[in-house]
Amino acid sequence: MIKLPSRQVHLDFHTSELIPDVGRYFDKKQWQHALQLGHLNSITVFAKCHHSWSYYPTRVGKPHPHLQRNLLKEQIEASHEVGVRAPIYYTVGWSATDAETHPEWVARNKDGSLQTTNYDVNAGANDTKPTTSWKNLCPSGAYKELMLAQTREICEQFIVDGFFYDICFRDPCYCDQCMAGMQAMGLNASADENARAYNKHKWQSFMADCNAIILSQYPEATIFYNGGASQYHPEWHVGDTHFELEDLPTTWGGYDKFPIRAKYFANTGKDYLAMSGKFHTHWGEFGGFKHPDAITFEAACMLAYGSRCSFGDQLHPNGVMDLATYENIGAAYAYVEQIEAYGLDGHPYANLGVWMTGSVADDQGVVNMLMESQIDFEVVNPRSELTRYETIVLTGGQCLNAPDAQLLENYLAQGGHLVVLGESGLNSSKTAFLLDCGARYMGDAQFTLDYTVVSDEINEGIVSTPFLNYTGAIRAELTDAIALAAVRVPYFDRTYGHYCSHMNTPYTDVNAPHPAVWRKGNITCLAHKLGSIYYQHGARMHRQLFINALRQQYTKPIVQAQLPSAGRMNVIHQPDQQRYVVHLMYAPPLQRGRCLVIEDMPDLFDVPVQLLVPEHVTKVFLAPSGILLDLGNTEAAQVVVPRVHGHQAVVFSYAA
Ligand SMILES: [Zn+2]
Repeated sequence: MIKLPSRQVHLDFHTSELIPDVGRYFDKKQWQHALQLGHLNSITVFAKCHHSWSYYPTRVGKPHPHLQRNLLKEQIEASHEVGVRAPIYYTVGWSATDAETHPEWVARNKDGSLQTTNYDVNAGANDTKPTTSWKNLCPSGAYKELMLAQTREICEQFIVDGFFYDICFRDPCYCDQCMAGMQAMGLNASADENARAYNKHKWQSFMADCNAIILSQYPEATIFYNGGASQYHPEWHVGDTHFELEDLPTTWGGYDKFPIRAKYFANTGKDYLAMSGKFHTHWGEFGGFKHPDAITFEAACMLAYGSRCSFGDQLHPNGVMDLATYENIGAAYAYVEQIEAYGLDGHPYANLGVWMTGSVADDQGVVNMLMESQIDFEVVNPRSELTRYETIVLTGGQCLNAPDAQLLENYLAQGGHLVVLGESGLNSSKTAFLLDCGARYMGDAQFTLDYTVVSDEINEGIVSTPFLNYTGAIRAELTDAIALAAVRVPYFDRTYGHYCSHMNTPYTDVNAPHPAVWRKGNITCLAHKLGSIYYQHGARMHRQLFINALRQQYTKPIVQAQLPSAGRMNVIHQPDQQRYVVHLMYAPPLQRGRCLVIEDMPDLFDVPVQLLVPEHVTKVFLAPSGILLDLGNTEAAQVVVPRVHGHQAVVFSYAA
């Protein structure tokens, strides 16, 4: 298997049939100049776009009506000539002309209506079309046969580096082919679980058929099936040779989503690629630019989390590359070129595990609290060795079945520590704790919100009076645990009939019988879903409470770096190079209109960093400058990093 290239562009080319002269001004030299200006080593080029057109003389599919050349061939050959890979893009789920000419290929909802994305089926031709507006197609029947035939044709006509199949893994479908398929397998389509099972079977069989065609001819080809919502579900990844983590942090929910994704995919054993855009807002934004400083910082952060880099662009219909775009990307990738050896092909190295629960707000909220407190973590793969973690955090959503609970009980018995938030300790019917946490479950919250009063044990940085929780706590009765914080309930829930003042009802005078935080030995429970509360409301008090509770169960972090809350830090272990690399990042995103923008990169000076690893660290230097740092003579390797501007890699070498 080849190593996935590190500096990629995903070159969209969804081109309407209403636009003339498609590809007319493509020029090999201009193309190659752009690739070199951008410091690229891979560019994804188009075989078939969302308008259903192909950019080569296809006999199987439909060539773009205004294309007069074999653009795909020229692009691939021009790229190969300058040593740049050129994997091939092929759309699956969105294909507009196919959907119009073959309505029977469009996926159907259970009620028989068309499955669409952001699409008004009753709109008139002159009505404004929203962004990202398509009908969804189903990879079955004749449409699937078309895609397989075209995959064969592409493999015959071109030197194939790889395939990127886009818009995969949509909702269960009830089209005629799927209904017949379910019937043939003895599945009753009216049961949702049957439709889901068939949907999984259908997509897995599509992936298997495509992979068989490609890999029989190109065993080294990279293949990825893109479907954002599928990311944490291994059943959708069986066809992938690697992962491409599509994102647009300026408009798709910010810069904090990427670290948790990177850490999840870092523990899957396959290469992974972070994909952002050169656009200010969104795919298909012609003339939209992100500043090169922002692209550089984004790319550095991708590397810092062990990820290869990709930025999306869209080629103008005339086939001329936008050189300003490649200047911007080139500024970023010139830096990536210098630091990529210190980010790729290593492993995350943290002794705090985050057990994801599938509740986005809980998972992301907990990770945000950790990142803002400069506590490095890994995403736990439950099938891996858990004892390498000093502590595991369960983020708040219900997530355990009996076997997983047993894994965690075994982990506790071997000296592990657990911090359990919200409903994470409960069984799937939410009637009892699956973990022996020294308490009996009494039920869900009786009030929509409540208050916490902390004891002296966990009160650092927290007020002594009751503070508000924006959702209420689950109720537990302690059996053999110690309460560390109490709950105060309000007098009543706010209604038209019962209300007080503008907002929430104040607290009553006595503590509730159920606690807010309790500990039994190596397990601490927090009754509130502090992750989702923090994710939605961002109050520092809640973060402080979580961190105080965590500190009781987590005392030996591998890395400590003193950064502001918006600073980020990640450790990568590269055993082949006998080194750990601590990546420090600081450029707080700013809310500007509907976008998050990276602009200000205030320097940080004299940042203390400490690393506690089993090996004897022999020298510490900055990358890429190579400047050596004074290494303290203590058990942990301690240095002071003189300056961090955006990103700084700090290399702890244990080579003799
Ligand atoms: Zn279908």
